[in-house]
Amino acid sequence: MDFSLSEEQRLMLDAVDGFVRRHLPPDEVRRRDVAHEPPDDLLPRLAELGIPGLPIPEHFGGLGRDWVTVALVQERFARHAGMMASLINRVVCFGAMSILKHGSDAQKDALLPRVVKGELLFSLALSEPGAGSDAGALVTSANRSDGGWCINGRKSWVSGADTSHYLVAACRTERGSRGSAGVSMFLVPRNAPGISMTPLEKVGNNSLSCWDVGFDDVTVEGAALLGEEGYGFPQMMTTLQYSRTGQAANAVGQAQAAVDLALAHALEREQFGRPIGKFQVIQHRLADMQTRVDQARWMLYHLAWRIANDLPCRKEAAQAKLVASEALLEVAQHGMQIMASAGYSSDSDMQRIWRDSRLYTFGEGPSEIQRDLIAGEMGL
Ligand SMILES: Cc1cc2nc3c(=O)[nH]c(=O)nc-3n(C[C@H](O)[C@H](O)[C@H](O)COP(=O)(O)OP(=O)(O)OC[C@H]3O[C@@H](n4cnc5c(N)ncnc54)[C@H](O)[C@@H]3O)c2cc1C
Repeated sequence: MDFSLSEEQRLMLDAVDGFVRRHLPPDEVRRRDVAHEPPDDLLPRLAELGIPGLPIPEHFGGLGRDWVTVALVQERFARHAGMMASLINRVVCFGAMSILKHGSDAQKDALLPRVVKGELLFSLALSEPGAGSDAGALVTSANRSDGGWCINGRKSWVSGADTSHYLVAACRTERGSRGSAGVSMFLVPRNAPGISMTPLEKVGNNSLSCWDVGFDDVTVEGAALLGEEGYGFPQMMTTLQYSRTGQAANAVGQAQAAVDLALAHALEREQFGRPIGKFQVIQHRLADMQTRVDQARWMLYHLAWRIANDLPCRKEAAQAKLVASEALLEVAQHGMQIMASAGYSSDSDMQRIWRDSRLYTFGEGPSEIQRDLIAGEMGL
């Protein structure tokens, strides 16, 4: 067992820190949050560091790095700005990994070099008004027509749909099928005629726009099918294993940021003639917070290591996502208590993390469903 970072990984993390200093210093993160402005415009700059192509093999122009490096990079970005980790999820997990794992040679040749160059953004279009936790309840249909497919239905909460080039959409291709059977994945060009979008208002993660997306007789080419017809559900579950690593990395990074903020405040803020960090109750709270984050971090790294070594990780992905998202929620709650009015102020980064943290225990599969998955893997 080797817990150390490689020289390459260390250099990549230094590059992430440099990127954040140049393009996303704290004031800029706050500005974008208030303005509800996503960091999508930074994708070409991200490509200069090779980040969209981190897991993409070198013959497509990527860096061909392992999944531990992807997780480390997402975690480091999230410590500064969760919005960047979400952007990487869209490009690398939903886009690059879906194509790499399930795409045809033609799709890989055409799209992966463009992902590496930072030219393509993707969104996952899985959830529907009647299909949230129960993704198998999806009803959006894709029927064969003139050598292509005709898609009808409605997807909800599609993050970043307005700026994506492709929606990675799960559609029912077998009439009358139910649950996980008869579903296929498609790469639907976002500008295809018949697609309509309505923005959804929400309470946090301001720099991640969310959309209700309608498909009204949307015609796509036969080549838009991603992977094998009828096997979309297991394929989507593989994609979610990557994106749940991303969610976990995002949660760990933001949770560490919450600890850092609360710790700095506890050392500086004086009440009753001494720093509040001298009160044992605050010390223990901070000790518990850091322990929670470290616990989540090691589960995340273990999951990433399993992915990097092609080991099964259904249980570990659910565990890491569960522990990291609940750790973030808990740590943000305690961090707010330690900072009190200073954290509740609109100028504070703690209030942003506190608001944003609420998403992670249900986004990309609620904690209850992660526990179901873990129990299932335990033979229950
Ligand atoms: C900001 C945001 C961004 C999102 N981005 C995307 C995206 O890009 N693409 C996408 O496809 N989706 C996206 N989603 C949707 C997200 O994945 C869903 O919200 C999530 O899957 C949960 O579905 P739901 O909200 O419909 O909750 P529901 O499924 O209605 O669940 C409600 C409650 O019931 C519980 N519950 C449900 N079933 C069970 C059960 N069997 N046992 C015990 N408890 C149960 C749940 O745990 C939860 O607490 C996003 C959502 C948000 C809020």
